[in-house]
Amino acid sequence: MSRRDLRPSRPPRRRGGNGRDAIAGLGARRLRTPRGPPGLYALGVLTIETIRRAPKVLLHDHLDGGLRPATLVELARDAGYHGLPTEDPGELAEIIRRGADRKSLELYLETFAHTVAVMQTRDAIVRVAAECAEDLAADGIVYAEVRHAPELSTERGMSLDEVVEAILEGFRRGSEGRAITVRFIATAMRTAARSLEIARLAVRHRDEGVVGFDIAGAEAGFPPSRHLDAFQLIQHENFHITIHAGESFGLPSIWEALQWCGAERLGHGVRIVDDISTGPDGQPVLGRLAAYVRDRRVPLEMCPSSNVHTGAAASIETHPFELLRRLRFRVTVNTDNRLMSGVTLSSEFALLAGAFGLDLDDLEWLTLNAMKSAFCHFDERLALINGAIKPAYARLRYAL
Ligand SMILES: [Zn+2]
Repeated sequence: MSRRDLRPSRPPRRRGGNGRDAIAGLGARRLRTPRGPPGLYALGVLTIETIRRAPKVLLHDHLDGGLRPATLVELARDAGYHGLPTEDPGELAEIIRRGADRKSLELYLETFAHTVAVMQTRDAIVRVAAECAEDLAADGIVYAEVRHAPELSTERGMSLDEVVEAILEGFRRGSEGRAITVRFIATAMRTAARSLEIARLAVRHRDEGVVGFDIAGAEAGFPPSRHLDAFQLIQHENFHITIHAGESFGLPSIWEALQWCGAERLGHGVRIVDDISTGPDGQPVLGRLAAYVRDRRVPLEMCPSSNVHTGAAASIETHPFELLRRLRFRVTVNTDNRLMSGVTLSSEFALLAGAFGLDLDDLEWLTLNAMKSAFCHFDERLALINGAIKPAYARLRYAL
């Protein structure tokens, strides 16, 4: 994607303003170089059908945030869980979505009480994981890294290892015969104290489909550095780290994640815009941390709807996605929680396409960003990029 060069024409001189002004400045400029011959390239806004057909990559999706509403109802019945507000799947989906959309990460997380309550047996977890793989494949996703905190699924006596094994078994079943690869990221709750145990668990299952380690949960008051021993273990094992950071809390969380904890990717990372201001010529000026993130090509696992629901972004139209994309940060697009936010990866891309005029080239660029940033081995990434993603986009381009 070297056809586009979005650098400012001259270096900005001094700081002032904020990220939102910076995007306004960028919007005033013509940022795209001319494209190829008419008819060969996808001009204009993408349709949801094209987005669904295009191969996509998902790096940030929570297993307990993506249950089918009907499955949640059935599993609740099986488990004798009476906490659901309704047994009508459609109504339930809507109630959960409204419960999540309260502009607070803490309130958003409350909605997980229902899903976690039913993910306490091997059969339930295998089913949820298998349906997850099926749903992602049906949405045109060719590679996904789905995460869960195994410590949340041990209330009825499953061991951490049994939880991971059930998840991996579900992914295997759901992927069978479908053009999708699903890997697992083991998450530790940042509000708890089991991260070292979870880090060891992740490493123990690395050859069976676990590709990395993460911390999640309420961010404010729970900095990544509380879990330094877990991150050090992962680093010593030459394994992979992504950290939820810069979602509900700002730059210090991002800085700690990168410089203390060795995060290779940032979950959300949207608050990195707090380190981007506007120069006197109206052009964006990157502070040292923002420059580091861009220079090192640190992938940002952005989840636009989820960010609006938790209050990390005011709206899709003002989401930092656009500024960061135009500044050529390593931006990726993700779902976070398909049930809670009522989204699919395709619907997220459609939202962004509507707000910012994305076309097929943009979709491919974002997909390649994600595939390059995956935690699976380099040869697997390369095989998917050259064997599946690029040829499919070439075919789509000629079909349009
Ligand atoms: Zn998340």
